[in-house]
Amino acid sequence: MALLNWRSSSHFDHSGDCPCTQCGRPTPMRSHTGEPVHKVCAEDWNDRNPNSPRHEHEGRDLGTARFHSDPPSKNRKDGAR
Ligand SMILES: [Zn+2]
Repeated sequence: MALLNWRSSSHFDHSGDCPCTQCGRPTPMRSHTGEPVHKVCAEDWNDRNPNSPRHEHEGRDLGTARFHSDPPSKNRKDGAR
């Protein structure tokens, strides 16, 4: 199973839990489109929908259009000066 990278704080909704669209249990996690879903449930959905449209970022496959990883961080060592 491909693991998603949801490190961005935008995936955590501080306003509270909503029912996960996959398992129905409460979760503070949100997809990129604001859909309430556990990260593991999103990964499971991706696994069960291998033919779903893909989300690409600069040529890299980050998952499905519905549930995909955050784009790689840009703030590396270069550019600090
Ligand atoms: Zn869930």
